[in-house]
Amino acid sequence: MYGLGIVKGMAITFRNFVESYLDDIFWWGKGGRYYNDAALQVRQSLKGEGVVTVFYPEEKLSVPERFRFVPFLVTDDPGPGQKWGHDWCTSCGICAKVCPPQCIWIKRGTQPNGRPKPEPEQFFIDIDICMNCGLCAEFCPFDAIKMDHDYELASYDRTTAHIHDKERLSKPISYWREIAPKKAEAEAAARDFAENNKKKKKAKDGEAGDEPRLAEEKVRQLPYRGEYY
Ligand code: SF4
Ligand code: SF4
Repeated sequence: MYGLGIVKGMAITFRNFVESYLDDIFWWGKGGRYYNDAALQVRQSLKGEGVVTVFYPEEKLSVPERFRFVPFLVTDDPGPGQKWGHDWCTSCGICAKVCPPQCIWIKRGTQPNGRPKPEPEQFFIDIDICMNCGLCAEFCPFDAIKMDHDYELASYDRTTAHIHDKERLSKPISYWREIAPKKAEAEAAARDFAENNKKKKKAKDGEAGDEPRLAEEKVRQLPYRGEYY
């Protein structure tokens, strides 16, 4: 019948309209339907009823662990009195090479004897060019660059604020564990595994390390990798 679809659509709209008010009453005295994390979780779930609009920026949706925005550089947690922990980046330059839009610039440090130092002296990422692909983080052999969850980076100052320097990019490993606990745990397990295997190979008692293919297989079986890669 002509117009039946319109009637059905209007009925759903009307139902949501009424349910919004009923939900208001339900959350009355429990912090309210809006600007309330507990209520937001219900509104955004399958149990949500009525209007599901998020009132950003007062309300924010939590992002999944695999969410990725511009990268940051991992450092050790700073010790007492320290501003920064030790950089994990060795300035190998792999991330800059694989970056499709070429928005990473690195200047390697120099030791007093003039030899290259395995730490970046400067590290820049132009976040307006970065397309958040995550390839730099995928290719980094030292787990030293990770994709951040901080997406509120807009500003009117294009020339300086959008070119992140080493200081702006550096964040401690505890931050990574906080925003991506499962992945951080799996990476730590893979690093420990690789380290132990290396030690085994070097051991003088003749115990040989696992064959490379076997080692690779074991790393692949670690929880996070099995689940997401
Ligand atoms: S790939 Fe990793 S270690 Fe190499 S320069 Fe990039 S962030 Fe640093
Ligand atoms: S996320 Fe992609 S575009 Fe952005 S810096 Fe990394 S490799 Fe380059």
